[in-house]
Amino acid sequence: MAAVRLVILGRQGSGKGTQAERLVANYGPVHVSTGNMLRAAVAAGTDLGLQAKALMEVGDLVGDDLINEIVAERLAADDVVEHGFLLDGYPRTPDQAAALEGFLTEVGAPLDAAVNLDVPVEEVTARMVARGRADDTEDAIRRRLDLYESETEPLLAWFAQRGLLDVVDGLADEETVFRRLTSVIDSRLSVGDAV
Ligand code: ADP
Repeated sequence: MAAVRLVILGRQGSGKGTQAERLVANYGPVHVSTGNMLRAAVAAGTDLGLQAKALMEVGDLVGDDLINEIVAERLAADDVVEHGFLLDGYPRTPDQAAALEGFLTEVGAPLDAAVNLDVPVEEVTARMVARGRADDTEDAIRRRLDLYESETEPLLAWFAQRGLLDVVDGLADEETVFRRLTSVIDSRLSVGDAV
């Protein structure tokens, strides 16, 4: 299978993580989730984990330089070069988007698509309260959603300008949302084949 390079965007609680797992199973890329990488670092008690822990607990973002370095290192690894990637939780700020673009240009590996899994704020808030993860306190949820609006939402226009953005309505059952996602991604990939 050819390497696919995808970005999945969406508010916290949009079902991004669940759908990312399914997309990885379907298309074969490596799931590169910055949230999972950071949680693993926290659990392992590494330097990075110690730096990230306090920020994550209050819903703040880890610094761009640090996260850009971690992602660039991961994307350069052999398995990712061979199988491609599904980026989940990155890029999250304009600076991260610029860093990603720079990296991909340098290695000559363009993105196939960026898909925004669109779920309204009220719905994601209810879902996050219900899942009760350790960093899902009310204040942290509000902080993360605020940061999403101010830092991450502008990236939708950024991807759209580059002709890479697809928007998928995430307000449906898991199976339906998955079919919507594969439908837009399949058309991206078949357009790519035709060129
Ligand atoms: P959520 O989407 O619910 O915020 P994630 O697993 O994507 O969950 O991220 C958890 C936390 O990890 C974030 O609140 C943030 O502190 C940190 N984090 C994850 N990705 C990034 C990133 N790209 N840039 C900065 N911080 C990040």
